[in-house]
Parts: sequence; C-alpha cells; structure tokens
Amino acid sequence: MISTALDIAQALVRFPSVNPDYDPASAGEGAVTQWIEEWGRAHGFTVWRQPVLPGRENILLQFRNGADHPHFMLNGHTDTVGVGGMSIAPFSGEVRDGRLWGRGASDMKGPLACMMAAGLRLKNAPSTWHGTLTIACMADEEFRFRGVTAMLDQMVGRDSVEPHLERSEASKASNSGEATDSRDARFARASSVGKWGSTESHPTGKVATESHPASGLPDFAVVGEPTRLRVVRGCKGCLRFAIHALGRAAHSSKPHEGRSAVVAMAHAILELERHFATRLAQIAAPGFGTSTGSIGLISGGTGVNIVPERCTIHVDIRLLPGQDWRATHQEIQSLLGARCRQVPDVQWQFDEPSVVDPSFEFPASHPLVTTACAVLGQPAPDIVFFSCDASKLAARGVPVIVLGPGDIAQAHTVDEFIALADLEAGTEAYEKLARSLMPAA
Ligand SMILES: [Zn+2]
Repeated sequence: MISTALDIAQALVRFPSVNPDYDPASAGEGAVTQWIEEWGRAHGFTVWRQPVLPGRENILLQFRNGADHPHFMLNGHTDTVGVGGMSIAPFSGEVRDGRLWGRGASDMKGPLACMMAAGLRLKNAPSTWHGTLTIACMADEEFRFRGVTAMLDQMVGRDSVEPHLERSEASKASNSGEATDSRDARFARASSVGKWGSTESHPTGKVATESHPASGLPDFAVVGEPTRLRVVRGCKGCLRFAIHALGRAAHSSKPHEGRSAVVAMAHAILELERHFATRLAQIAAPGFGTSTGSIGLISGGTGVNIVPERCTIHVDIRLLPGQDWRATHQEIQSLLGARCRQVPDVQWQFDEPSVVDPSFEFPASHPLVTTACAVLGQPAPDIVFFSCDASKLAARGVPVIVLGPGDIAQAHTVDEFIALADLEAGTEAYEKLARSLMPAA
C-alpha cells in the first residue's frame, strides 16, 4: 500500500487539479480528492468530506488518539495553478535527477504528501503521542481561498458567506463524471452543500450522519507552503482590484473627437507608480518591509483605427499587519480622481476588490513558533511575502505557522519540481513537530 511521501506525491501530481478559475476546462480537484479519500479510508483515518463548489471538495483525514486535544492540523491544498507554457510534462510525475517533476510538486502536492506520510507514521505509533491529528486538504487555495474559508465557517458553526455556486458551465460539464455523481448521490442525504459528511460507513450500512469533524477548531496548525522547511510566523496580505478609464470612441482619423481611455490610463499608471514608491513605501512593519503595489494586467481599445473608449488595469497591493485595506483602496481612488485630469472628459471607475486577503503575524515567542524552531533547529522564525491559507486560520484565532519542504521559487514555474530529499525531510519535520505539540500523556 502506498505510504511514502514520494509515492503519495507522485500519485497526487498525476491527477490534474488545475484550479478551474485558471482554466475553465479543468475538472478541478475532484479526482485528487477522491484518491486522498480512498487512501485515508484504506489506512483507517476518519475521513470528512465537505462540498465547497460544484465538484470541488475539502477532504479531512482525522485520527483521534486518546483525546480531542491537543488538536493539531496539518493543512495543505489540492488545487494547482495552470500549466500553460510549462517546459515539462505537467502530470507525468517523473522522477529524475533526484527530483519529482510536475505541476504541484512543490506547491503543494509534495508538502501535502509529506503531511499524509507523517500522519500515517503517527497513526501507526499511537503510544508516542496523544491528541487529535487532522490532515486538511483544501480546495481553491490558489484563487480565492474558498476551501479553507468554508472549512473554518463550518468548524465554528457558521455557514460560509461565499455562495457555493460560482462555476462556469464548461467546467460543470467536464465534472459530471460517474464517480462524482455516484458519490454525490451517496452522501447527499448525509450532508447538504457546504456541510460536512463523514465518509465512514455506519455499522447499519447507512452513511454516518455526524455533522461536524471532531474537536472543532484546531489548537495549532501548520500550512505546508514550500518554505525550504523554514518556520514562518507571518505573511503579507493581498488586495486586488480593477480600475477602468471610460473615454469616448472616435474614428482614428479624427482623434480630437474622441477621448482616449488608453492615454488617460497611461497618466494614471505613472501616478500610481509614484504613489507606490512614496505612500505605500512609508507603510512598514518590522520583518515585513513595506507595503508594495504592482499593476499586473492592462487591456484597452478594440482596433487600431478607433480611439479607445475603455481601458482597464488590475492592481495588486501587498498588505502589512495593521494596514487598513479600505483606507489604501480609498487613497488610490482619491489620488486618481484628483490628479488624472490630463485627459478631460474621462471617467474613472473602481471595482470592488476581487481579493482581500489579510496579512497575519504571530509573535516569535508563541509556543507554536518556539516549538517549531526548536524542532527544526532554527534560531529565529521568518516572515514571507506571499499569501496562503494561513492568514484565514489566524483570523479565526488558530495559532498557525507556514512550514513546508521545497522552495516557493519553484512554485508556479515552467519546470516545477521537488527534491526527493526534501520530501523525506518534510515528512520527518511534520512527524517530529506533531510529537512535540502532542506529547504522550
Ligand atoms: Zn500553495
């Protein structure tokens, strides 16, 4: 039976699970979560399944070893970014040159496999620790964190604020495989959308109807984003929104009759760059550096012979602890309203943010941080700049660190891989940390 981190990681990489928000033709996380569910059941874990979006589910593998607490959660995600432009076969799971190659190898099917392998080792040595271990496999980390949000909402007994039906017709259609249909039918009676359903068979032959995983919120959590196995006690947050310039179209032979939205946006971009370099650069926190801004997308115009009526940019701001995203968003609106009148008769439109992801920070003296640093032999914890599921756990008061094998520099790349040695080191680190946080009674 598959039990090593390498074998598990290879199996996970071989199931395509591109987040459908990056590729509408992708079937999403369904196949990989089905495999994890079966793996967990085969190894005797209590398995919880939670629909998040159509065909996209969270899976929790849980083992209660003598007590509900301490409750330690190893948290990973099953979705990946897209595979466009990759220079290797994305789903081959090839092992070559001491590395496992493929989309998700480092972000984060490799780290998730380490969590599962560590969980299995712990389950097979119950006398060495005491408490409840949960391996949480989240959907939709790469786009809008709706998996972890749904899990936490359910754990605290609140319905998710996100609607559960936000899927394109194309991806719905591609997800109507037989396995998914039969599983949905089997568990629909046990749980409504967004609710937990235990996938353990009841002794009576019926599906168990417990509505909630044991123990509620965990006492400690680790999110396994690749950090080269460095303990991370804080991450920057993220604010994303679109800005539209609305001008007036005209034939390009009479440009004076139009109002070019593209030219107006060009002025706005220069103003924004100045704002990032001056105002955002003043917002600082120890260890985090400063808030930053980046304009990542631009589109405008419909033809070379038409003065463009519309131009849109997408802005990405990285947030620090204590930074009020509403104030940051408002400042930018005010700035453009006041300073971008170089092209008259152009209107500015600001969308509500598409992403608001808070930053998080735990003190270096927090017992979870000091315990993890002691286990890893790391003198002081780090802070990183990327966003992940950890801030959502922290926002609910769950002590959380980010700690995973592999390098974030390898995430989302054209030739993603994880070193086999890192898979072994990651498994050992999670196992040792679990024993330290849940010592034998
Ligand atoms: Zn990730």
